[in-house]
Amino acid sequence: MAEAVSCDSNAHKLLSVEDARARLLETAAPLDGAETLPLIDCLGRTLAVDVIAESPTPPADNSAMDGYAFRAKELREGEGLPLSQRIPAGHAPSPLKPGTAARIYTGAVIPDGADTVVMQERCRENEGQVFVDGPVKVGDNIRRAGEDIAAGDTVLSAGQRLRPQDIGVAAGSGRDALSVRRRPVVAILSTGDELVQPGQPLGPAQIYNSNESMLTGLLSSMGCEVLPAWRVEDTADATRNALNEAAAQADLIISSGGVSVGDEDHVKAAVQALGSLDLWRIAVKPGKPVAFGHVNHQDRKVAFLGLPGNPVSLFVTFLLFGAPLLRHLQGRDRIVPAPVLLPANFERPKPGKREEYLRVRVEDGRLQTYPHQGSGVLSSASWADGLARVPAGETVALGDSVEYFGFDKLSEQ
Ligand code: AMP
Ligand code: MG
Repeated sequence: MAEAVSCDSNAHKLLSVEDARARLLETAAPLDGAETLPLIDCLGRTLAVDVIAESPTPPADNSAMDGYAFRAKELREGEGLPLSQRIPAGHAPSPLKPGTAARIYTGAVIPDGADTVVMQERCRENEGQVFVDGPVKVGDNIRRAGEDIAAGDTVLSAGQRLRPQDIGVAAGSGRDALSVRRRPVVAILSTGDELVQPGQPLGPAQIYNSNESMLTGLLSSMGCEVLPAWRVEDTADATRNALNEAAAQADLIISSGGVSVGDEDHVKAAVQALGSLDLWRIAVKPGKPVAFGHVNHQDRKVAFLGLPGNPVSLFVTFLLFGAPLLRHLQGRDRIVPAPVLLPANFERPKPGKREEYLRVRVEDGRLQTYPHQGSGVLSSASWADGLARVPAGETVALGDSVEYFGFDKLSEQ
């Protein structure tokens, strides 16, 4: 892996996205702490402990059809079998009397002795007997005990995100509660003296703070508990105070802006004073300056991620670094989503020096770029449904396969 490059030591050397991400994940330790929650509240959470099935699913052999159950070898061409019992789902059967058949319904337990079920569409009842049309195969239409899950199987693994179907599997194994990782508590620091909160009048030289609500949305959609944001003026004292307060409450602090090396950028020095920080210049467009480190609070090291202030840069670097970091903090097994290859309906005739993430939309199965790709043009991200990755040094011609990452996957919890 490439060495992390601090701005101080080697300003012109850029770190690749992959190396920066590997470095970030290596440095941050997953959070301690799990809680046991009722099953339905576990949706979207990360499982903390494997779920082992105590009993098989289904628990008993049962019928896959509405029909008739019998011993296949007792069926004779043209002859009926007398009906000896009726077995609806949820009612325990008696053993099947030799030489007879049982009327049976989907999900009902197969009686001892029966080895085959034929669906009712192929049968005819007459004077208490059932007649079967055509050949039958032993074992037909029987769902075997344990064919879904055997006792002792690991049905869900620690580290996986719990989706509705996983909740269903846990319920099917009789579990009414699961142990899940606790939600990460995240603090946002909005830096920039030019920022005004939406809803307030805009003065000269001011802009609205779009990053704070966007970041809150990204964090909420990833299942974090988001603290009310700290709005920090561009001074060393204010930045240090906000970091101290945030560190007392959060597992992770994310700052917006102020992370470059200009005179008005105080985040780097403040984090270094209270803990440690690597400022990485990453070979990524949009993005580039991303800082990672920690702030000490008593005996805790609170993770810190400093994102660039340009709204598109913040959005993209959050998806590339912040989202994987949050999954890692929650002990997730899958950290980075896999790309989908799609044909380009755009051209990049000149190779770039940095890996580029274009805001694109899938239209008729092809990738369309938003015409204005500037790092301040947030409408590009609002228009788009994902990012297309163009590696450094590569060009794109019409129809070339390009890696596409949908926003839903990038920001998936
Ligand atoms: P900085 O990283 O602080 O140098 O900011 C880079 C650019 O992003 C500047 O043009 C800032 O005005 C802008 N910016 C910083 N924070 C925000 C924010 N919260 N919302 C919108 N734009 C911002
Ligand atoms: Mg600033």
